[in-house]
Amino acid sequence: PSATANMKDKSDRATTEQVLDPRTRIILFKMIGRGLLYEVNGCVSTGKEANVYHAVTPERKHLALKIYKTSILVFKDRDRYVSGEYRFRRGYSRHNPRKMVRVWAEKEMRNLKRLQGAGIRCPEPIEVRENVLVMSFIGDAEGWASPRLKDADVPASEFSILYSELLLMVRQLFHDCKLVHADLSEYNILYHVEHPPTTADDSQLPQPSDSLEPEKDNDQRGHLYIIDVSQSVEQDHPHAFDFLRSDLRNVEDFFSRHGIRCLGLRRAFEFVTKESHENEGGNVAALEKWLEESEKDDNDESTEASADVNRRSAADEDSVFMRSYIPRTLNEVYDPERDVGALNRGEGKGLIYKDTIGIIAPKEKDGDDDNGGERRVRFED
Ligand code: ADP
Ligand code: MG
Repeated sequence: PSATANMKDKSDRATTEQVLDPRTRIILFKMIGRGLLYEVNGCVSTGKEANVYHAVTPERKHLALKIYKTSILVFKDRDRYVSGEYRFRRGYSRHNPRKMVRVWAEKEMRNLKRLQGAGIRCPEPIEVRENVLVMSFIGDAEGWASPRLKDADVPASEFSILYSELLLMVRQLFHDCKLVHADLSEYNILYHVEHPPTTADDSQLPQPSDSLEPEKDNDQRGHLYIIDVSQSVEQDHPHAFDFLRSDLRNVEDFFSRHGIRCLGLRRAFEFVTKESHENEGGNVAALEKWLEESEKDDNDESTEASADVNRRSAADEDSVFMRSYIPRTLNEVYDPERDVGALNRGEGKGLIYKDTIGIIAPKEKDGDDDNGGERRVRFED
């Protein structure tokens, strides 16, 4: 069932299907009237909480519109991201779905701006009006969206550099943006390869130089773009570390599945949260070194069996870690500088809090509800 096929069907369906309610359509009409949009095309993705549409500007630039659903039901379980977060303590009404959704859309806009400000690859946020977020479109010149990392045809040789790229982004997100994504996985990362413009006015393009060396753009490989940051939380959210760990677990799992040597959850967490890597020559050099170390650990094992034991104990350590490092509330047990400091000094084991609340299950993955094909949206009443 399409959220868009029944635009003319007056028998208002369940609100979850009814993304483009009259008020949302008015917002879109106004955007068209103001010349921000020229037209709204197909649905790129239908999800539980939002649909994403492809749109174009009068200048034929591609845009993505994320339109949040205004049903009360889908936003109920998002409370845990908001409670405890200072920015949203006031003005968050659980009883008015339009208001709630507006908060989420605005939050995604602000978070995207922070990512942009830190130079993290993500869609460029353009404007938010109530439940409609307008952002740049991550895709090709014809308007095909770049695939999610989960679905992307990534050359085998690129996985390892993408893993490093991603860890560095998570670190930047944490330190520069003071944010934890909180729903990071291969579902919320796009794999985008920048293609040089082909149809553009050729005279505008740099002319081939005299050099025999062909103009080799060594940035032809794909890059990862972080999306879906409406639920991202501030570093000081009481569950921030919890979310971060679950984000990193997804990252570790995904890249391990693709045969990449990863840091392991615990080291990855340490790498991201560590105050500074200056004494190791900066983040990039440090990561390289840490990865080498984790490789060496494995190679040191002489027999298959002991390597196996080693792997298993590393996994055990990770699972203990998953259960243990759970600060309960901000005021009670959580002093980020002390705790992160202790963790960095290898004293993480002292941080096992009694009364832990257990691990929060990662948000249900939104894998099944994407539509495969294109759908048209018409605005004709
Ligand atoms: P949801 O809350 O439904 O998971 P997302 O922000 O993850 O919303 O977007 C859903 C899907 O829409 C993404 O998986 C991606 O395929 C597509 N998408 C989202 N934003 C963009 C964008 N800026 N450019 C291209 N595709 C996008
Ligand atoms: Mg998503």
